[in-house]
Amino acid sequence: MTIIITGGAGFIGSNFVFHMLREHPQDRVICLDKLTYAGNLSTLAPVMGQDNFRFVKADICDRGAVYSLFEEEHPDVVVNFAAESHVDRSIENPAIFLETNIMGTAVLMDACRKYGIQRYHQVSTDEVYGDLPLDRPDLFFTETTPIHTSSPYSSSKASADLLVLAYHRTYGLPVTISRCSNNYGPYHFPEKLIPLMIINALHDKPLPVYGDGLNVRDWLYVEDHCRAIDLILQKGRVGEVYNVGGHNEMKNIDIVKLICKALGKPESLIHHVTDRKGHDRRYAIDPTKIHEELGWLPETKFADGIKKTIQWYLDHEDWWQPIISGEYQQYYQKMYGSR
Ligand code: NAD
Repeated sequence: MTIIITGGAGFIGSNFVFHMLREHPQDRVICLDKLTYAGNLSTLAPVMGQDNFRFVKADICDRGAVYSLFEEEHPDVVVNFAAESHVDRSIENPAIFLETNIMGTAVLMDACRKYGIQRYHQVSTDEVYGDLPLDRPDLFFTETTPIHTSSPYSSSKASADLLVLAYHRTYGLPVTISRCSNNYGPYHFPEKLIPLMIINALHDKPLPVYGDGLNVRDWLYVEDHCRAIDLILQKGRVGEVYNVGGHNEMKNIDIVKLICKALGKPESLIHHVTDRKGHDRRYAIDPTKIHEELGWLPETKFADGIKKTIQWYLDHEDWWQPIISGEYQQYYQKMYGSR
């Protein structure tokens, strides 16, 4: 089988590339990635040069490049991770989110229709459901929860999901969608909450926490997400949406305190900053469907996963140091000032 993994030089996509090469060594894996600020070729160094792996630098919105790749490789499966993924950046500049996340998805699916495919899988997010109130811990997102987005990012992801389902209904394209909660683990770009706090704490820099820090996210170790997508490709029903989450709700402020403790840093580094516009309060996934239909369950407990993740950042300064010294500096200063 030949599988195209788009966005495979980013956080989850690269972990999925490694997962597929490890678990399905007989398959051919092609990573298509534009290498935006969030894509990092050095992440893929361990598999570069491997016979069953190929890296192609291209934009999923570039119809010519995408069609050429399909003509050359005749993929059986496409898994689309490629996206602009940072909510804060979508608030600053929505246009690129609409372009990549919606139009890019359409180009990939048009290629799948033109050249034929066994499966197109769209990697989506629980953010398409909007948020839940903090005082209703009994409420969870199921696959039938109405789409109710808050940010340009989540709106672009929800739009793509609707398009994917429409391509299934209208053209019979064999699609599946997964909507996962927040991931954490190795190769997470330093702008995101967990790596940002680890790296700032290591430098004794202020730890910027939005608003009161009481916002709740449902955290899943990235390898558990990769296993879920692999299972959906193998056994998931075409035309279906699967929620993926590990019932691991944590307040942002508690995550930051835990990181301080693990690194032996004082909580006085925590610095509350003006809340994100439209900030979602609580995300919480009900993963019953993927558990009952496909037998998926998360394997990594948060206490172990966060320990492994912190250790990974301690051991891989060579990966994140070049990232935080480049253009990222300008972004950081714009968001949080020069401290
Ligand atoms: P990321 O920002 O780390 O990586 C995105 C990758 O896509 C990068 O390698 C980038 O170069 C590439 N890319 C961006 N635009 C492209 C384009 N036009 N053409 C080709 N490649 C392009 O993102 P991530 O956190 O790994 O998220 C991957 C996917 O999973 C996204 O679709 C995101 O919406 C979804 N998701 C993420 C999370 C999370 O917690 N990170 C949770 C649920 C769903």
